Amino acid sequence: MHIDGKAAKAASGGTFDVYDPSTEQVIATCPAAGAADIDRAVLAAKRAFYEGWKTTAAQERGRILFRLADRIRARRGELAELETRNSGKPIVEAEYDMDDAATCFEYYGGLATKINGEVLPVPADAIAFAMKEPMGVAGQIIPWNFPLLMAAWKIAPALAAGCTVILKPAEQTPLTILKLAEDFEAVGLPAGVVNIVTGDGPGAGAALVAHRDVRKIAFTGSAEVGRLIMRGAADHLKRVSLELGGKSPNIFFSDADFENAVDGALFGTFINQGEVCSAGSRVLVQKDIYKKFVDAAAAKAKTIKLGPGLDRDTKMGPLVSKEQRDRVAGYLKIGAGEAKVAAGGGVPRQFSTGWYVEPTIFYDVDNSARIAQEEIFGPVMSIIPFTDEADAIRIANATEYGLAAAVWTRDIFKAFRVVRSLEAGIVWVNHMQPTFVEAPWGGYKSSGFGRELGHWGVEEYLETKQVYINLDEKPIGWY
Ligand code: NAP
Ligand code: MG
Repeated sequence: MHIDGKAAKAASGGTFDVYDPSTEQVIATCPAAGAADIDRAVLAAKRAFYEGWKTTAAQERGRILFRLADRIRARRGELAELETRNSGKPIVEAEYDMDDAATCFEYYGGLATKINGEVLPVPADAIAFAMKEPMGVAGQIIPWNFPLLMAAWKIAPALAAGCTVILKPAEQTPLTILKLAEDFEAVGLPAGVVNIVTGDGPGAGAALVAHRDVRKIAFTGSAEVGRLIMRGAADHLKRVSLELGGKSPNIFFSDADFENAVDGALFGTFINQGEVCSAGSRVLVQKDIYKKFVDAAAAKAKTIKLGPGLDRDTKMGPLVSKEQRDRVAGYLKIGAGEAKVAAGGGVPRQFSTGWYVEPTIFYDVDNSARIAQEEIFGPVMSIIPFTDEADAIRIANATEYGLAAAVWTRDIFKAFRVVRSLEAGIVWVNHMQPTFVEAPWGGYKSSGFGRELGHWGVEEYLETKQVYINLDEKPIGWY
């Protein structure tokens, strides 16, 4: 772990194993933090906040973030390889993640000097303004699908705001952020400003949520755990932001560019083995192209090359853990009873090791089916037919989630009408998944609340203080 500027073990001496999902071998052993370790990390973060970070010049905080971006770029190959070994994702995708993580630190390095208050138009005998201040110690809990990138999305805006951090990576994928932590002091981060604590959710995560000196919890993960976190945060009325995934619709009208649409459906669902919160796993296709679309998508899915992520030809790696592979395989069984299979549907036989799942396409799926309503978090697509625009919108919104959606058509009027009608925090037109650090990220409904990225991301770590200055020297004279 990395606590108060130093490598640290768990007070209990407990550890857990970390795996390579393509070999099923243990590649590291990490400390299993408990409440005592969380306490130590919070104390360090609290001291670092009050003894300096809170009042460190924004320019200086920004420069440190720039240097973190530089470190990620300088160590891109090493970090990407470690990310692939630990998460299973194809190396090419891991390299994109490293670039995006560097860009995220850079963006917030720039934003650190642009956090302004406002002067308010009160009557002339006073001046009033609103100023922004960091919340204090922030607890951050992240998932295993984009390990270093999710750490960047959390740490960068918190530091720009002037908060100090305790981050708990997912137990499956702690390695890249621990590797980057080796450079924290070298880039000028004072001890205790960013602490990385490893361990599981019920042990380390819950203790972080329960700690009285943690002012804010930022969480990305399942809706189920999101609910636990919101309840846990209620005791001390902590601020909470939640990014909880979804079951996002990817809508194809018959006037869309056909080849591109099929590719977009596959990209939207299968990138990162489908372990993506914004996966477009509900593919809605207009009836007049439905049959042709199912056939073309299935034919293409069967050509996706599975293999170890470190192999540069690999287009889909193994899932992150045995637990996740078994969970997804369970959904393949459920789906076989609910709909028809166009491609995949099982665990591939060609590998003697590795937690692989075949890219799978179900069709003739009813939107009320479990495979259309529950987040599977694996390479599983459910294709659902629709008749017209109104039907597409009705089906698209018939979900508890509301993270993302996409619409494919050449008709600009239709595209914008659908954009307006979709209940989702992110909507793409004629693409799905491009993500920019400048643009807000987060969901409607059970996909959570709060927004990451852009200026929205930094606001999640700021309080607003109202200041009134009396300019009138005459006595108040009320009593
Ligand atoms: P998860 O249970 O929601 O875990 C996300 C993070 O929360 C991990 O760091 C986890 O720790 C931690 N956590 C778990 N229980 C906690 C608790 N009681 N208090 C505080 N923190 C806690 O997700 P998962 O188990 O990795 O995956 C399960 C399913 O969640 C997936 O199949 C998928 O459907 C969904 N998921 C969604 C996203 C997303 O981005 N929206 C990401 C990941 C998973 P540990 O895992 O280390 O115990
Ligand atoms: Mg878990």
